[in-house]
Amino acid sequence: MALGSNLGDRAAHLAYARARLGALPGTRLAGASRVDETAPLPGSGPGSAAYLNQMVLLETTLPPADLLAACLAIEAERGRVRSAGPRWSPRTLDLDIVRYGTRTLHQPGLTIPHPELPRRDFWQREIAEIEAHVHV
Ligand code: ADP
Ligand code: MG
Repeated sequence: MALGSNLGDRAAHLAYARARLGALPGTRLAGASRVDETAPLPGSGPGSAAYLNQMVLLETTLPPADLLAACLAIEAERGRVRSAGPRWSPRTLDLDIVRYGTRTLHQPGLTIPHPELPRRDFWQREIAEIEAHVHV
């Protein structure tokens, strides 16, 4: 699961997400990468700030759709507003399911692995970092 924030107290938003995700029913936080800072995504509009990103490994019995619903709820708890603005407009908290074990899913509203994974070098670095330290 990828955590991202580029608005407000970014580190606090990530910490909140780690705590909430780890406390979901049937869920345990089993690993985490370091927190990285990355430039705003291309096309995210003028004035966008740098992101703090972190990858976390969850062990969960929640099915993917329930996990996604929980993610959207946690984003809303941090005051995330989904506007009609540019796709990658600033956000307090963004939670993306990057992989779910070895599953592949193509449902309306949920694609796993996340389609951006091949293009986001920092996600791949963060995954490698977790895999180097956690036996999965
Ligand atoms: P983005 O993450 O691309 O910046 P959003 O966070 O606004 O955009 O997500 C938009 C929608 O993407 C979510 O409402 C969700 O339904 C959908 N989505 C599809 N696949 C995934 C995934 N693997 N993880 C998280 N959201 C996903
Ligand atoms: Mg998202």
